[in-house]
Amino acid sequence: MTKGGNLVVRRVVCPGSFDPVTNGHLDIISRAAPLHDEVVVAVGANLAKNGLFSVDERIEMLGEVLAGYANVRVDKFDGLLVDFCRAHDISAIVKGLRAVSDFEYEMTMAQMNYSLAGIETLFMTTNPLYSFLRSSLVREIAKYGGDVSGLVPAPVLSRLMARGPWS
Ligand code: ADP
Repeated sequence: MTKGGNLVVRRVVCPGSFDPVTNGHLDIISRAAPLHDEVVVAVGANLAKNGLFSVDERIEMLGEVLAGYANVRVDKFDGLLVDFCRAHDISAIVKGLRAVSDFEYEMTMAQMNYSLAGIETLFMTTNPLYSFLRSSLVREIAKYGGDVSGLVPAPVLSRLMARGPWS
């Protein structure tokens, strides 16, 4: 897109804790990528306390599984997402909606982010295959040695297995 003769990059962000990245996250990111010039997948460092993986490990895993997407890059943010958006010229936030219960919370966040900084939020409905899938469930199942092979990409699975069941 051009504006006043200048090239305008339509850059969006997919924010989250990604502890760890799941097939549900990947579904949303891979469907968002062809719709925008650039997608920034941003790990919220302030959401990372008491997590299973460190922020650096999450970024590393995201980098591995998203390596095939030329217009997707991985970053992290501290503090307010709208400040990250302003600093990186990001005009919209892309969020996945698993169920109506997600929508209630996401709608207030979207309205708040718009009123704070004029940043739009675009919602994508989840692939029904993944509507039950969240990182906390993956952590819970893996913790007790359950099979999460259909829920996460291979690099995540091998890291989870390397930890073995833990308490
Ligand atoms: P989780 O709830 O799995 O911990 P995050 O907080 O990391 O996820 O979520 C980051 C983004 O990914 C949010 O927009 C969330 O709605 C979306 N998302 C998470 N899991 C899924 C899924 N299974 N399908 C679609 N979107 C999802």
